[in-house]
Amino acid sequence: MSLPTRFAFFEGKIVPFEEARISIATHALNYGTAVFGGIRAYWNEEQGRLFIFRPYDHYRRLLQSARMMCMEVPYDEQALTQITIDLIRADDWKQDIYIRPLIYKADMGIGVRLHNLRDALSIFCLPFDRYVANDTGAHVTFSSWRRIDDNVIPARGKVSGAYASSALIKTDAVRAGFDEALVLDQNGHISEGTAMNIFMVRDGVLITPPVTENILEGITRRSVIELARAELGLTVVERSIDRTEVYICDEFFMTGTAAQIVAVTRVDHRPVGNGSMGPITAKLRALFEDVVRGRNPKYAHWLVPV
Ligand code: PMP
Repeated sequence: MSLPTRFAFFEGKIVPFEEARISIATHALNYGTAVFGGIRAYWNEEQGRLFIFRPYDHYRRLLQSARMMCMEVPYDEQALTQITIDLIRADDWKQDIYIRPLIYKADMGIGVRLHNLRDALSIFCLPFDRYVANDTGAHVTFSSWRRIDDNVIPARGKVSGAYASSALIKTDAVRAGFDEALVLDQNGHISEGTAMNIFMVRDGVLITPPVTENILEGITRRSVIELARAELGLTVVERSIDRTEVYICDEFFMTGTAAQIVAVTRVDHRPVGNGSMGPITAKLRALFEDVVRGRNPKYAHWLVPV
């Protein structure tokens, strides 16, 4: 299978995509010792340009993930953003894209550890549309798998190996006929989806689990909290969410770079609220779409034009 992309950043420079290759003996491939990011750039048709959404925040989080995994690369978030701009220009994208930076243990050989191994950075981009096809009315289930714990693999880091857990959860949910799954932590509280943070509306208040609940500290989550407070005047509370609260809440949605804002209208065959997308979810989706495409000057500081 080939990808519709011409260039990649690999071993310190932009190279033809086919030349960005690693060995089967690479540490990261064998042990999951890599950390990654997922960033979107949105095409603005009227202005004829791409806007990268919050790249500095994404790269700050990537570098934090790297730090947790004893990795070092000679770049800060400014340098990483500039490399990304150069790469997008080389590929000359004129559509929505997804940017995938990866920092990985690049040495070859056998031996589980993090120390005394060389770290490397790669980045590639892909054209990208919707991640959850049914994003105006998703049907989700509670997974029987539990969420990884901070003392197992840090959930606040985007550690490649940890996504084996997300993959188990996603495949079981999809094979059972659902669009996505909600994952409970060891205490039975909802942490998040497989690649999304979660929000619920109860009595006009927007509620989401705190960052200490084994979630990834989502950039979309952070953006939605700010938009909900500033633009919709909503109270946003970060607290634990019980499973059965989802059965009685008014609205429920999931957020992520790939997923954007996905309205959840059914959970395990039960309707959420009245069973269709709620007004707060709809407003946030419209607001978010304007912001990411550079149509809302108030949030222009979240965007980096290419
Ligand atoms: N949780 C997990 C486990 C994820 O992989 C993602 C996607 N990066 C998210 C939440 C959403 O984070 P963000 O909004 O920064 O993409």
